[in-house]
Amino acid sequence: MKIEDLTWKELEKSIKNNPIFILPIGSIEQHGSHSTLGTDYIIPKYLCEQIENIENVISLPAIPYGVCPYHKGFPGSFDIGYNGLFNILYKIIEKIKQDGVKKLIIINGHGGNTPAIEDVGTILSENINIVVIDWWRLAGELNPIYKGGHADKQETSAVMAIKENVVKLEFLKNQDIKNISENIKFSDSINANFKNGSVKILKNMKEIVEDGWVGNLNPKDSNVEFGKNMLNDVTNYLIDFIEEFKKVD
Ligand SMILES: [Zn+2]
Repeated sequence: MKIEDLTWKELEKSIKNNPIFILPIGSIEQHGSHSTLGTDYIIPKYLCEQIENIENVISLPAIPYGVCPYHKGFPGSFDIGYNGLFNILYKIIEKIKQDGVKKLIIINGHGGNTPAIEDVGTILSENINIVVIDWWRLAGELNPIYKGGHADKQETSAVMAIKENVVKLEFLKNQDIKNISENIKFSDSINANFKNGSVKILKNMKEIVEDGWVGNLNPKDSNVEFGKNMLNDVTNYLIDFIEEFKKVD
């Protein structure tokens, strides 16, 4: 159930049953000329909606904004910064702990959020089990065909499965990555491969790819079926995980 539909008395009673709280965290940021600014927000929100009606699960409203300083060259990319996300998340977790919650699953939709989420979660980890699930990473582990990058076929298909009409594949641009040398090649917006290892190169995304998408799965192949199958696989994993997590005190 959604916390917003409960009274404080109902919530107080529910917390006595040691519920699992779930919290989606996203980002409003560029996803190429073809996919939407809300990509990282609507996917974890959708996944939480698939599991929030499981018995003894309570969903918190999503945090839509995230940490994306490297997208600042694109309109509509809101970076609330590490401190912004850290502070919001700290206050939310501090409060649910005060109310007696002992289990939280964060479903994250954006890699840039990871440092803040992990720091807050670790600092507040006493007397609560905080689980973080990066949905895109999990999807790639469940089936390697889903393993993708930023606004490529993986994320774009997921958006199409949730809201098909918002994706505009007709506006898709070719990926033209500006690598810093012939042999140091970006694999995403930060990581670059050199020989048999990888390094991180810190740049604003606009300097690397004019259009904004980076990935190994071309978004031109995005489709509803691929997105639905992937989101179903992730949802089924979440359902199984919740059953196991319920056994934890
Ligand atoms: Zn994304």
